[in-house]
Amino acid sequence: MAKKKVPKPTKKEKAQMIELLLALYPDAAPELTFNSDYELLVAVILSAQCTDVRVNEVTNILFKRAGTPEAMTSLSLETLEDIIRPCGLFHTKAKNILTMSQTLTRNYDGKVPETMEQLMELPGVGRKTANVVVSNAFGVPAIAVDTHVFRVSARLGLASGQNVDKTEQELMKVMPREHWTKLHHCLILHGRRVCKARKPACETCGLNGLCPHGKQLLSEAIAL
Ligand code: SF4
Repeated sequence: MAKKKVPKPTKKEKAQMIELLLALYPDAAPELTFNSDYELLVAVILSAQCTDVRVNEVTNILFKRAGTPEAMTSLSLETLEDIIRPCGLFHTKAKNILTMSQTLTRNYDGKVPETMEQLMELPGVGRKTANVVVSNAFGVPAIAVDTHVFRVSARLGLASGQNVDKTEQELMKVMPREHWTKLHHCLILHGRRVCKARKPACETCGLNGLCPHGKQLLSEAIAL
């Protein structure tokens, strides 16, 4: 028998999902450790294709030696590569962190700029990194679309899942602006803990009565 297709969520269901996400993860916040805007920027660059736990282990060592752009530029490329090696992609990340730090020292008096445009001109800083920095360092509402946000929002039907830029635009339309930053962290936590890439825990997921995937699963279980 052909599978019955579960329709996309309605506007009301999307609003309910957003409420539920906020209720399920009331303490959602960045899991990276940092003590300044600059440390946050470096930690986010290091987090590409690496876990936050690993990044925190590395930055715990790195920031004792170089927690400012000036101190970072005093490190040699080889030394920085050695310290950040456990984060992976260490050649590129070290080069970007050094040139980014030189740019901050030269053009911004050692401070992290506050606008998306200025941030995205820095070496190694793309839209996702800039969104994380403006939202967590400067309190500007933003939705950074990482792998978890992209996957979970597509499964929930909050976004079409075509590409990260479209997902960001779609989420900004469906989510209240004052909750953008918080919901970004909620989606990440939900992706890490429940809606995992390989094996989403739909049976126990708190959103399974609203999510098209969860509904599909429930309707198949009832049909058995
Ligand atoms: S029901 Fe399944 S697919 Fe939907 S959000 Fe929950 S875990 Fe993810």
